[in-house]
Amino acid sequence: MPGYRVLRTVTLLCVVVVFAASTLVSYRRHVETSQLLTVTQKGGGWASSELEFELLRFMHILESVGLGRGAPDELVLRFDLLWSRIDVLREGAETSEVREMAGAQLLLDELQAMLRRIEPRVLSLTQGDTATADQLVDSLIPFEKRVRAFNVASFNGPDAQNRIRRVFELNRLVSISIVGLVLSGTLLILMLIRESSRSRHQSLHDELTGLPNRKFINQHLTAAAKAASRAGSLLGVHVIDLNNFKEINDTLGHNCGDQMLQQVAARLSGCIGPHDTVARLGGDEFLVIQERVKHADSCTRLSRLLCEQIGHEMLLDGTRIYPSASLGVSIYPVDADSVAQVQINADLAMYRAKRDSGVSYRRFEPEMNEVIQRANTLARELKEAIQDNQLVLHYQPVVEFESGRIVSIEALLRWHHPRYGYVSPVEVVTIAEQYGLALELNEWVIRQVCLQYRHWVAEGVETVCVAVNISPSMYALHDLEASLTQILEDTAMSAEHLIIEVTEDTTMRDIESSPDTLHKLKALGVQIALDDFGTGYSSLNHLKRLPVDKLKIDRSFIQDLNISPKDPRIIRSIIGLAESLDLQIIAEGIEFVQNVDDLVAEGCLLGQGFLFSKAVDSARITEMLRSQQQGIPLFQAAEIRAGMAIVQRA
Ligand code: C2E
Ligand code: MG
Ligand code: MG
Repeated sequence: MPGYRVLRTVTLLCVVVVFAASTLVSYRRHVETSQLLTVTQKGGGWASSELEFELLRFMHILESVGLGRGAPDELVLRFDLLWSRIDVLREGAETSEVREMAGAQLLLDELQAMLRRIEPRVLSLTQGDTATADQLVDSLIPFEKRVRAFNVASFNGPDAQNRIRRVFELNRLVSISIVGLVLSGTLLILMLIRESSRSRHQSLHDELTGLPNRKFINQHLTAAAKAASRAGSLLGVHVIDLNNFKEINDTLGHNCGDQMLQQVAARLSGCIGPHDTVARLGGDEFLVIQERVKHADSCTRLSRLLCEQIGHEMLLDGTRIYPSASLGVSIYPVDADSVAQVQINADLAMYRAKRDSGVSYRRFEPEMNEVIQRANTLARELKEAIQDNQLVLHYQPVVEFESGRIVSIEALLRWHHPRYGYVSPVEVVTIAEQYGLALELNEWVIRQVCLQYRHWVAEGVETVCVAVNISPSMYALHDLEASLTQILEDTAMSAEHLIIEVTEDTTMRDIESSPDTLHKLKALGVQIALDDFGTGYSSLNHLKRLPVDKLKIDRSFIQDLNISPKDPRIIRSIIGLAESLDLQIIAEGIEFVQNVDDLVAEGCLLGQGFLFSKAVDSARITEMLRSQQQGIPLFQAAEIRAGMAIVQRA
């Protein structure tokens, strides 16, 4: 970028030089033109004085030939010269101004006519012919006075004065316009310089908060690190990400979201020292560069202060909120020896702070890199695992409380990694999303489920609907409809037995297109369940537009029941909402008999959880389905009610 700046400055300087040079050249041309005009003017005057001079000399030589002193040859020469002076005045380009003076043309015509008349006698005049010479002189005497008057007028007459005055006037006007040109040119260049520095400022700053942006930081960090190395000081890089900003944006509106970012920007700016920089990296992510640091402790002190300041109560359009942020700090050159790595480290520390709920800031630790290494290894091996069928699906039953029957099953991904052991499906899905494997993974799961279902049908096992989970980018970025169509066709799966589970959050990623996406899926004949319901912030309006069949109450609400069993208000309102939208409701994460009682009391009749069964492998779920087929209820409703231990009869 500095190279670009130098180039721009050089270009501007060139423009200034060219402009100044061309102004100078045009000024010189103008002076030359004026001089030429004056010379022309003078040329006219010279021609008229030459005429008078030649007339007098001709008259003088006439007299002298008449008196026998002058030579006739010289007479002829003078006569020719007089002719030529008249021709110059009558036809010369430089004498046009003089020619146009009042009476000039007439004088020249008459003088020429007179010369033509006396020409024979002039040419034949002999030495001593005084009489003829006197006659000839007499014929010219009247012209003597008129030619003098003409000569004087051509130098000093009003016409000549006017012309010279006009030249000077023009001169003045041109000078004024040149000054105007120079001034406007200078102004133009100044404006150009100002405009270019403004657009440079814009390109390096965030419009909403006025803070430096990522581009600025990329340039500045390198310089700051060099300065720190020279001075032997430390450099703290704090990466700050607001918690739940998306929800605030979605629930209170973008205007409030913008206000929040502006207030956070002001709070952060209020915490830093004169050598430090606050920047907005984009979205709800900020960065603070702390320079001239002597001890690492002062970095963590600033981290704490930044989090504290963000956490103060905030008013957004009259709504009171308590913001919070996750902050990661990394110190150069202690934690990393390059600016790129120090930023990555600060990011890692921030993610760790975000993951460890209740912790607002973290200093980078080398083991955080291991997390990345694990993710890289898993991502690399996940691709092979998908291709080699190393992944397996387990199935968790959804039970009807009243009858104890399995009404559907949910397929859940399991990966036993040779080095890391059990890898949770949440981690597998997150990695697949981050490393571009979502399409492959989701398609694999759906295909497996369909094949398993077809297998049960072929084996004569009494089947129930099977639910598959769809990850966010599969839903939002890929053509889920096309994938489903293809898999349903390939496996000859009956679409109505397939339940697609999408989390409430996922449908919120693109509120506008979600109803459309789901309608397309519904058109294929599949059922749709809204998973982890209650954890997102969707509005009733959003829900009403979604063509879903089932709501799955997130297990955190069921677990809340264990903490305060007497407070089922949230569950009650979710069930009320589902009923008003005519949706089937399923409770997740049922671990205690009491949960079932509480849920039944509120009108929820279906659920899944460890109380009934964990997710089990396909052999075990097949057994369960078979015993159900033989009329043996798996879970004793009466026993559940009585609060007794669950008996799995199969
Ligand atoms: P989910 O879809 O909400 O699945 C329910 C999760 O709750 C499962 O966790 C299940 O084992 C767990 N669970 C069920 N009953 C109980 C209970 O009583 N107590 C407790 N503490 N947990 C219970 P799991 O298998 O670890 O899956 C976690 C999440 O990973 C799933 O949440 C789902 O969002 C995702 N996931 C799992 N398999 C797949 C998959 O094949 N594809 C995609 N895209 N996501 C999957
Ligand atoms: Mg699910
Ligand atoms: Mg769930």
